[in-house]
Amino acid sequence: MPEVQDIAKPHGPITLKNGWTVEVDKNICIGAGPCVGVAPKTFELDDEAKAVILSSCNEDDADTILNAARSCPVSAITIKNDKGEVVFPN
Ligand code: SF4
Repeated sequence: MPEVQDIAKPHGPITLKNGWTVEVDKNICIGAGPCVGVAPKTFELDDEAKAVILSSCNEDDADTILNAARSCPVSAITIKNDKGEVVFPN
């Protein structure tokens, strides 16, 4: 099973190899889970049913992670580019 990226900040922000940062707002996340289905190497639900970011996230390509963010019904996943500009939600 993939490992959670950093136990100190399992919800991010985490910087991907393309320079994007990914963060889950656990206060918004409702554990609906489509992000896990779209990008299973990036997201997993913890035991509180909140999405956490996995250390294997760079095995999913950037579009897959973006699509996972788009799949979230409550827009709990924020992606920023290497300039700190918000890529999603937009
Ligand atoms: S899709 Fe959104 S609400 Fe559902 S688990 Fe992922 S981040 Fe949470």
